[in-house]
Amino acid sequence: MTDGASAEEAGPSDPETGRKDDEADRRSDGTDRRVERRSPDETFELLANEVRVEILRALGDDPRETLGFSELHDRVDIADSGNFNYHLDRLVGAFVRKVGDGSDGDADTGESGGGRDGAGYELTRAGQQIVGAMYAGTYTTDAAVEPISAGWDCLLCSGEMVVGYADERAHFWCSACDEGAKFSFPPGTVDQFDRDELPGAFARWYHHLMTRLFHGFCGVCAGRMDGEFVRLPGGTERNPETSLLQFTCQRCGTVASSAAETLATFHPVAQGFFAEHGFDVSARHPTQMWGELDACDVEILSEEPPRMEVRFGHDGEEVRAVVEPDATVGQVERRSRQD
Ligand SMILES: [Zn+2]
Ligand SMILES: [Zn+2]
Repeated sequence: MTDGASAEEAGPSDPETGRKDDEADRRSDGTDRRVERRSPDETFELLANEVRVEILRALGDDPRETLGFSELHDRVDIADSGNFNYHLDRLVGAFVRKVGDGSDGDADTGESGGGRDGAGYELTRAGQQIVGAMYAGTYTTDAAVEPISAGWDCLLCSGEMVVGYADERAHFWCSACDEGAKFSFPPGTVDQFDRDELPGAFARWYHHLMTRLFHGFCGVCAGRMDGEFVRLPGGTERNPETSLLQFTCQRCGTVASSAAETLATFHPVAQGFFAEHGFDVSARHPTQMWGELDACDVEILSEEPPRMEVRFGHDGEEVRAVVEPDATVGQVERRSRQD
């Protein structure tokens, strides 16, 4: 993990307010690719204040809405107007964007007054994420769900699959052989579903996470993720446990992994095949579908570099997808199946 911040620094900023809104605005209309970054210290220091957190929360009530100065002031319970101005100004450029009259950062250097009435305030993307994180995790980080029957059997041993939740992670596993998969799920979202809805909700979230991963974006920081097909020692060619896809974030270093069969399952050609055979890829955990297919197997095509073919067969048809060394699907075809 390298720090590219200094190389991409866009220009001078005011160290007191952290204001770099000119650069951010130019970027948003696509005419300027410059990326500016603020140090983590600077960013988190901005949040270490109750009034600023309340301002973000008020703006986040309806993220599509732009609030005028007095409306925003009314929604934040603070008696001292000067204090309110100060904290709002600190947020502008980082978590809050000023739009409309008076939005020109150079002209607005006053403490209060000039230009305020015509200006509106809205959350930046980073601001939306802060508010989203408050909803996703606050007060509920100890959420836990006792095992629920997932409604299908283990691919490996036919034992009963169950679903649970602990330590901010959803868990699908086999009650007999213990094999399964864990993945992050926002704790604040767990209690939005009834117990019998949770297996479906976890499956849809898993689909969402994997789609982002396979499209090359980090689930933690939204940075670029590059993948690699890794062969593991031991096993036989047909045992999927002998290989995995490993994705590494080029910015924060997060590593995520998946089975090659999952990548193949999410390819558009395979998704079409599954849909036309009555399987909704987004609503089930992949292993559930694989178990219901007429056939699901893999074959190693080469060891160095590693390439593998994944095959799904059902009702006289099959999809063959080749997983390449960089953890992408190369050749893929759908055809009638010869047994
Ligand atoms: Zn099992
Ligand atoms: Zn990342």
